[in-house]
Amino acid sequence: MTAVSLGVPQVPARPLAARRPSRQIQVGSVAVGGGAPVSVQSMTTTRTSDVGATLQQIAELTASGCEIVRVACPTQDDADALPVIAKKSQIPVIADIHFQPKYVFAAIEAGCAAVRVNPGNIKKFDDQVKEIAAAARDHGTPVRIGVNAGSLDRRLLRKYGKATPEALVESALWEASLFEEHGFRDLKISVKHNDPVVMIEAYRQLAERCDYPLHLGVTEAGPAFQGTVKSAVAFGALLSQGIGDTIRVSLSAPPVEEVKVGIQILRSLGLKERRLEIVSCPSCGRAQVDVYRLAEEVTAGLDGMEVPLRVAVMGCVVNGPGEAREADLGVASGNGKGQIFVKGEVVRTVPESKIVETLIEEAMKIAEQMEKDGASGESAVTVS
Ligand code: SF4
Repeated sequence: MTAVSLGVPQVPARPLAARRPSRQIQVGSVAVGGGAPVSVQSMTTTRTSDVGATLQQIAELTASGCEIVRVACPTQDDADALPVIAKKSQIPVIADIHFQPKYVFAAIEAGCAAVRVNPGNIKKFDDQVKEIAAAARDHGTPVRIGVNAGSLDRRLLRKYGKATPEALVESALWEASLFEEHGFRDLKISVKHNDPVVMIEAYRQLAERCDYPLHLGVTEAGPAFQGTVKSAVAFGALLSQGIGDTIRVSLSAPPVEEVKVGIQILRSLGLKERRLEIVSCPSCGRAQVDVYRLAEEVTAGLDGMEVPLRVAVMGCVVNGPGEAREADLGVASGNGKGQIFVKGEVVRTVPESKIVETLIEEAMKIAEQMEKDGASGESAVTVS
């Protein structure tokens, strides 16, 4: 059987901008910065002290594509759970520490892949940076300086009046300077704000003023729909300029949803391999088939497909043949029928009732061939 080349690039053919040069740190098995792929992270919502529930959620996050996970550590019971969680998690675990310097040491000792500290909630830490830097260095544990608009250092709030981009950046760089005084530069930085406009400007300024890898986040971005839009806009603006080394989408929704959104943002920007991609038209007064139903049924039928496949579902002959031809597989509909395209060629014409099953059948054949050929990665399906 002749191999079918799907022609979907594994990586973006033309990145939007060169990545900002940054130093590289190692968060467990995941490199961050220094040209490493932009990683997706999330945070558990379980009580960290509930080891079983936390590991279960981490397993779900891992299965969804999460590459780094953060766990909160507000109590001694949580700190006590860290060694088992860090050991059993399949992805690097970062301990999120506020207020209590002793938990920073506990997290480092526990074998966490990194610790996150918040300069605004951590004034007591400033006296202990020397010891923290020494412990982190001894264990090879990087530190994220995570500035957040909602917990900005009071001194900077007084100086700037509110959490401006300048205030967020000053807070982060001040904290970084404390570590630098002790020769510790194994840092990554975030300057989060719930307003994408402020957040974008803060990261732009930060990117100009240091070479640390940057963790992007719109903090408290809101419920799933609003948070997805805010995060996509803010991350898109920054990543398209090469700024950002790891991302966390913050949603008032289960963390697996954050990961899905983060992965999709990276795929949309060509920063992560595409898998199944459905190209479907929005339908209009010219549509000669039920495009919404077709798109939904094809998407559902191909859910979980691991190969890089672009499938086009198009509602009429205006753009249908062009899009279907460009995709790996597609249908151009008209007159109650669908012309099925595979790699630019019409292979069949079927009645509307057979379009979905025919597309799925052809997609399976292509996937099987790709697997035989050892192809891996991502694909796209277009439904118009
Ligand atoms: S492909 Fe046809 S039906 Fe779909 S939006 Fe374009 S013109 Fe309308």
